Amino acid sequence: MSGIYIHIPFCKQACHYCDFHFSTSMKKKEEMVLALVKELEFRKDEFQNEVVETIYFGGGTPSVLSIDDLRFLVDAVYQNYQVVEHPEITLEANPDDLNTEIVIQYANSPINRLSIGVQSFFEDDLQLMNRAHNSEEAKRCLAVATQHFDNISIDLIYGMPNMSNKKWLKNIETALSFNISHISCYALTVEPKTALYKMIKSGTISTLDDDLAQQHFHILIDKLQENGFVHYELSNFGKPNYFSKNNTAYWLGKKYIGIGPSAHSFNGKSRSWNVSNNPLYLKAIAENKLPSETEILSKTDQYNEYIMTGLRTIWGISLDRIDSEFGSSYLEYLHHQAEKYISDNLLEVENNILKTTKKGKFLSDGIASDLFLLNLN
Ligand code: SF4
Repeated sequence: MSGIYIHIPFCKQACHYCDFHFSTSMKKKEEMVLALVKELEFRKDEFQNEVVETIYFGGGTPSVLSIDDLRFLVDAVYQNYQVVEHPEITLEANPDDLNTEIVIQYANSPINRLSIGVQSFFEDDLQLMNRAHNSEEAKRCLAVATQHFDNISIDLIYGMPNMSNKKWLKNIETALSFNISHISCYALTVEPKTALYKMIKSGTISTLDDDLAQQHFHILIDKLQENGFVHYELSNFGKPNYFSKNNTAYWLGKKYIGIGPSAHSFNGKSRSWNVSNNPLYLKAIAENKLPSETEILSKTDQYNEYIMTGLRTIWGISLDRIDSEFGSSYLEYLHHQAEKYISDNLLEVENNILKTTKKGKFLSDGIASDLFLLNLN
């Protein structure tokens, strides 16, 4: 299984917490679409023996593109790659872009999954984050989208300053009232160079509280599990049969090609990433060059990646796989490092699979970094 990710590097405005790559100037939008198609053509040989099962429009804000542009890009995938009969085709969309007419256009196109950036149903949260939509738009777009799509995911953010547990629960309940099949939830984090970072530094808003984020995380797990969702990855919850195929493939180490500025690719042995700059990307593509850097993954890098993704997902870390793929020295090291977390009930081993316990889930990234290897190879 393999996938194609297409990065649409434009947003209407900059959300205060965001450090993804995007431009708020739409001037080069049409030029960018042509460049993305050209990159798809350039790179078809990388997937000569692969069948594409997922196409994912991420960003940025893919819903700033017209339906014609989106169709043009999907057509370019079909013209240059082998695609399975019913691929999962996801479009990330923001509520302010979704009205009835547009949702119907999407529903009549090959797009069959929407991932909607709701973030919160409360006006004050949306303003604090500088989102382009308001709470009414978030609810209205879900009411429309659920009439035309059965595969919908929404994003929510928790751990915001002064967000009470009651308010967070209300956000989850509002999401559940739309009967959607997938929810991705992220703790608010402060990335350098963002407006949020400056606001916290200047004291305009209070620092984030890890304990509060942890409480929100546990409320989330309990509420969504009660409602039939499976917590299949640290930040992702899906009803059975509605896990994101695109993201699951990524966590299971499948190959993918990332098209567009800042997009990452993985071929099983190396990772590459395109330049995070729209003018440089456009210039390189116009000169028939691929603006990317590549890193060959060492055995240790591959071990570390497996540890990180394994601990974040319900599939865990197979100790048999560590032994067969990496060797007994890696397995011994892992046993040794994991020991203290097992005695603290943060990790557990079941059927020779190492996983986080409910208590350990929130800490999985920190635990993973303690299981990483730095010096072998
Ligand atoms: S819409 Fe998404 S990508 Fe764009 S600034 Fe906001 S969070 Fe970042």
